Amino acid sequence: MMEKRGISILLLRLIMILLAPIWVALSSPCVNSAEVRNIRIWPAPDHTRVVFDISAPVQYQLITLTNPPRIVLDLQASTLSTAVKNPVFTSSPIKALRSSQRPDDKLRLVMDLQKSTAAHVFTLPPNATYGHRLVLDLDHHTSVVDLENAVPYQPQDLSLDLLDSQRDIVIAIDAGHGGEDPGAVGPKIQGRQLHEKQVVLAMAKYLRAMLTTEPGFSPVLIREGDYYVKLRKRTSKARQLKADVFISLHADAFRTTEPRGASVWTLSQQGATSEMGRWLARNENDADLIGGVSLDDKEPNLAKTLLDLSMTSSQTTSQGLATMVLQQVGKVTRLHSKNVQQAGFAVLKSPDIASILVETGFISNPTEARLLSQNSHQKKIANAIFQAIKAYFYQHPIDNTYVASVVQAQLNQKVYRVVSGDTLSNIARRYGISLKRLQQVNTLSSKSTIKVGQNLTIPAS
Ligand SMILES: [Zn+2]
Repeated sequence: MMEKRGISILLLRLIMILLAPIWVALSSPCVNSAEVRNIRIWPAPDHTRVVFDISAPVQYQLITLTNPPRIVLDLQASTLSTAVKNPVFTSSPIKALRSSQRPDDKLRLVMDLQKSTAAHVFTLPPNATYGHRLVLDLDHHTSVVDLENAVPYQPQDLSLDLLDSQRDIVIAIDAGHGGEDPGAVGPKIQGRQLHEKQVVLAMAKYLRAMLTTEPGFSPVLIREGDYYVKLRKRTSKARQLKADVFISLHADAFRTTEPRGASVWTLSQQGATSEMGRWLARNENDADLIGGVSLDDKEPNLAKTLLDLSMTSSQTTSQGLATMVLQQVGKVTRLHSKNVQQAGFAVLKSPDIASILVETGFISNPTEARLLSQNSHQKKIANAIFQAIKAYFYQHPIDNTYVASVVQAQLNQKVYRVVSGDTLSNIARRYGISLKRLQQVNTLSSKSTIKVGQNLTIPAS
């Protein structure tokens, strides 16, 4: 019995091995399986996104040529639909797009560029609005793809503000819930039921106070009192206020009392990445229903834009900032998760604003609820977020902001060591700067004297 069974398994394996090449041949896509059906272009001040709608997934190869600057995109076994119209390339580095069908069934797309530009290609799977896509991102500024230092996407109607070379970085602070919607409900503390909406509003106000006194930052509160703001309204308000960053503050609850600790979230591509994430996202998003008003979904343009821009640099900023917030918050309170989490929170769905959500702790955990109710702890959390925002933007300054000008000035300035016979006015004259400026930069008064060997900061003239 055993013997016979052994032989039959061996035979089966042999048959499978013999049939394998036939199976692979039958299952592999046939020639010209993909068709490019449409080309869409999304110019932004700092990058241009070209989206190719394709009928099926494709293998591709990107070649960058410098003289003259061109990008060549070869798509295996593909054709270009005759219905495709050449897109308008104004305000993008692309001068023209040409295509040719190669003898090896490749579709070759050649983009002539104004100047050499770093390019990045990836594919996107189908979603509710679009099918398979091949996405080409062109970075306007760098010659290498530098995602770490990418600046957030700015809508084009901000061009007037961009002329102002020292604008503030606008931070929209969103205290979750409010009014009819208490958010998570905690235990009674000193006779009063602890509500998430109070805790996060207090933190939001502390954070605003800290940012108000910090040069280069302009905080705005999405909700200032105990009232409800619809989720979509929160993001559209942030957009109206021309926010660079949207920070949503929350406190968790779970059906059991054990979980505790803070966590930081960014928008996921495919919705929640964990069971807890799904649970949280559902609860936070249900807020609109709890508030008695159903989520307003009548914004097809926003949804469409979101889908196309969901992977732009604002996502990079969100991720970088979230990481820093997590580090700082981890210094003042316990963390629920050591990594930035991702979920499909509605308030994070701003394509053009870097958005993060901070769950500041579990209100359903009695120990943590007590902490969250204390002003001193609320201040500590607000300060951690404040430090993270400052640190992030001094490391990744946004162009044309006060912060960027400070960073630039620091890069430009020199240090001069005082030698015998120097006077402040002589040094100022030598470097072509005013005496007053030299004193200011070195925090010297008009009566201060200088010593041999002393280091003076020489600002850029
Ligand atoms: Zn919440």
